[in-house]
Amino acid sequence: MYSCSLERISDKIKTFSKFGDAGHGGITRYSLSPEAHMAREEFVRRMEAIGAKIECDDVACMFATLEGSDPNAKRIVMASHCDSVKNGGNYDGIEGVITAMEVLETVVAENIPHKHPLTAMIWTNEEGSLYPPAMMVSGIVCYDYLPDYLKPNFMYDKMMASKPMDKSEFANFGEALAATKFKGPKENRLSPDRYCAMFETHLEQGPILEDNGNEVGAVQQVMGMFNYRVKFHGFTAHAGTFPMAKRHDALHAAADFICKMHERYDAMNSELVAQGDYEFVFTTGEIYVHPCIHTCIPDEAEFSLDVRHPKQEVLDKCMAVLQEMAKEEYQQCTCGVEEQWKRDPVPFDSRLIGFVEEAMEEMGCKWQRILSGAGHDAQFCAYVIPTTMIFSRTKDGLSHCEPEHVSDEDCTTAATATLNAVLKCDASPEF
Ligand SMILES: [Zn+2]
Repeated sequence: MYSCSLERISDKIKTFSKFGDAGHGGITRYSLSPEAHMAREEFVRRMEAIGAKIECDDVACMFATLEGSDPNAKRIVMASHCDSVKNGGNYDGIEGVITAMEVLETVVAENIPHKHPLTAMIWTNEEGSLYPPAMMVSGIVCYDYLPDYLKPNFMYDKMMASKPMDKSEFANFGEALAATKFKGPKENRLSPDRYCAMFETHLEQGPILEDNGNEVGAVQQVMGMFNYRVKFHGFTAHAGTFPMAKRHDALHAAADFICKMHERYDAMNSELVAQGDYEFVFTTGEIYVHPCIHTCIPDEAEFSLDVRHPKQEVLDKCMAVLQEMAKEEYQQCTCGVEEQWKRDPVPFDSRLIGFVEEAMEEMGCKWQRILSGAGHDAQFCAYVIPTTMIFSRTKDGLSHCEPEHVSDEDCTTAATATLNAVLKCDASPEF
């Protein structure tokens, strides 16, 4: 059992928090921005210092590799992203990169023998907060292996044409990519020819580990999800002159629907939990009203519905309830539903999960099995090579905001779990 260094991890967290420091505890570090380039320079500096070989691919993903003792063995990679959302925190993404660097540094410092080459990797543009969509570059790199329904979202030319959502000196992602010095040949992309396993360490971004008093989680899978638009159609009239009983108020219809949906879904969740299953989570995060004038009765209302659960059959049931509910009338308005997108649940590799769980058990740390409700590059990577994730305890369950925090100790526990899981993978005859 080897351990990562709390001191080295603390130093890396402090250093990387400077790149894009927004001045109030968090960072704004868009992909391929000058701030992200500073983080990449630091990655190169630290990885070259331990003798790792640096490579880049054509979409600016970066790789630092320590050769192993077997010249024919494929690489084991640890990867995450170094970009953030606007006014994000100091952990989302970069914690996984820091972990990957720390694992390589520990291997060198402790002279740990290993058969496979070990690679620390930075994915480009995971957040998609300047150039959407999220997970853009893993979508490009893993494109050939993605399910057909996902492919249209990540077509190379479409991605290159992605326009910035905020101030940028470039007209689109393609131009930003052309300008970066961290670009290499396409052959350097992550592929099953050269890589045999991938580990991503990430903060949980939710309160479950903290609520259960656990430090780290062995992630079993990424939840499946679907996203719908639910639309209501009535008619508009003057707010002061039109009697209540004659109204076809689309916003009232939407509100009525949301309340009834919560009742139906809450009942379904109670049943699931009683059966010992996970509850599904559902969110209406976006609402649109027309004409959106305070003296007019709304004639159109539309809201988003995001539903997530690890089992496809549960998602299918939720979808069926939604379809059934849409057949009814609400406040004298018609209702229609439209699918926007969906993602299948993505199970991680059971052998890699086993290495992670064994490592956590042997360390004697407080751990549990957990699911990922958020999307990560690892979920696309899982279609290409055996993949898994390790979660670290997140203070108050907060992420994508400046108070986002993981203690140095919890980062070190997660890194130590990653190191030992990687070494188990390295020693396994199956890899
Ligand atoms: Zn992330």
